[in-house]
Amino acid sequence: MTNKYSALSERFLNYVRVDTRSDEDATKRPSSDKEVAFLRKLAQELATIGLSDIQTMSDGYVFAKLPASPGLENVPNIGFIAHVDTADFNSENIQPQIVENYDGKSIIPLGTTAYQLDPAVFPSLNKYQGHTLITTDGTTLLGADDKAGVAEIITAIEYLINHPDIQHGPVSLAFGPDEEIGTGADHFDTKAFGADFAYTVDGGPLGELEWETFNAASAKLHIQGQNVHPGTAKGAMINANQVAMDFHAQLPVHDRPEETSGREGFWHLIEMSGTPDEANLTYIIRDHDRQKFESRKDQLIAIADQFNAKFGQDRLTLTIQDQYYNMGDILKENMAPVELAEQAMQALSIKPIIEPIRGGTDGSKISFLGLPTPNLFAGGENMHGRFEYVSLEVMEAATDVILKIIELAR
Ligand SMILES: [Zn+2]
Repeated sequence: MTNKYSALSERFLNYVRVDTRSDEDATKRPSSDKEVAFLRKLAQELATIGLSDIQTMSDGYVFAKLPASPGLENVPNIGFIAHVDTADFNSENIQPQIVENYDGKSIIPLGTTAYQLDPAVFPSLNKYQGHTLITTDGTTLLGADDKAGVAEIITAIEYLINHPDIQHGPVSLAFGPDEEIGTGADHFDTKAFGADFAYTVDGGPLGELEWETFNAASAKLHIQGQNVHPGTAKGAMINANQVAMDFHAQLPVHDRPEETSGREGFWHLIEMSGTPDEANLTYIIRDHDRQKFESRKDQLIAIADQFNAKFGQDRLTLTIQDQYYNMGDILKENMAPVELAEQAMQALSIKPIIEPIRGGTDGSKISFLGLPTPNLFAGGENMHGRFEYVSLEVMEAATDVILKIIELAR
């Protein structure tokens, strides 16, 4: 292990021990006071290491700036963004475990629980021979998603501050809440942030570089039935449950998450409830291709219209809401941020792994707010649960990539 970033592991371990879970059911933003408290401390830390213009925005984001080296003020301003909240899994009393010099094949017990990291179940472990791994104790998630990103960004910037001989342009940092509940970046203030382009540091294993996400919408269908005593129902009952099943049966059977991969889109029925009197279905709609995405929404509308026409009444009410769009549609117009990240990885002998994300990132929203924002690896594996772990060496590599991007941008 190198000593280049002596503070990295300590910083990361301190962050993950703090509970910052976001709260899907809360209406306030940020959704939990735990996130606000963590962001407040983070703002203090940013001031302590010597950053300037530290601002807490009304949406909870903490912004900070590293001014350019003298004479490099006109170099593009690069942003780095990470989220502080953790996913919907137990995050109370996180006790990270450190496994030094992992042999790449042993089973790692998780604390005193019956859970374990077994290479037979998680073959990704084989990659980490000789690495220092940080795991959970089996009772919580780890929160490398995305405290690894937070720690890497701050460590990289601290390194620049401590090495004024390294010449660089202006850098903007942002740390925000509520990524895991999909709302954190809804009102990201790209103007105040001031970057020309940015990166979320929120990806998985070494080399991940992502610039395509899904287009995403949710659809809620309400079905008003007509309930009549079943004994005298003939010709009179409209069973909302039956209509719901008939509606769902109209959708192509292969366009489901469990049957699709790569760039294939889908409708995913995520919730259903009903009585003969009324029924509700909730779908999410996903597709990388914007036209196909629009057509998936249109198909739902057309099916609902057919049913309503058959009933001669509007018994089906469909509400569709777009959630985010494929940032690839923005980035393909200007691939410079992606190319710069690729160059930085190649300069460090890291093979870029570029694949479309079957999901979204904060960058999906931020890109459409005018700031092109692809996603860089932060190192985490098995995110969002007790089997989450991260390699310290990969976190160091992510820190290297951040520095190299800044260095190459001049
Ligand atoms: Zn994340």
